Amino acid sequence: MLKNIEDIIISRARDSEKLKLLKQYEDDIKTAKDIINGKLTYCEECKDYYLTKSFFSEKETVPTKICVYEDPINSGGNDYVDGYADISYSVCPKGHKHVVDRREYT
Ligand SMILES: [Zn+2]
Repeated sequence: MLKNIEDIIISRARDSEKLKLLKQYEDDIKTAKDIINGKLTYCEECKDYYLTKSFFSEKETVPTKICVYEDPINSGGNDYVDGYADISYSVCPKGHKHVVDRREYT
């Protein structure tokens, strides 16, 4: 058994207090399990977890320059052509966009 849980059981705190502490463990364990099984997803901007199903997907197509020749010595010698990028985002419930896929084409 986890040492801290044992400490809670044998401590001199009141039973109601012990149960409150154990409840905290239960909640933390439930959250940890949901993170592992993918039910919760982290948003780096929010620094918080949300239900994975509350994220929504968004797609957009933006004009972009596609590198068709990479100068090995000077990047100023690179050649670019006009193209497009299809970008897929995963958007957190607060609206933070995270790129999950980007495909470029001409
Ligand atoms: Zn967010």
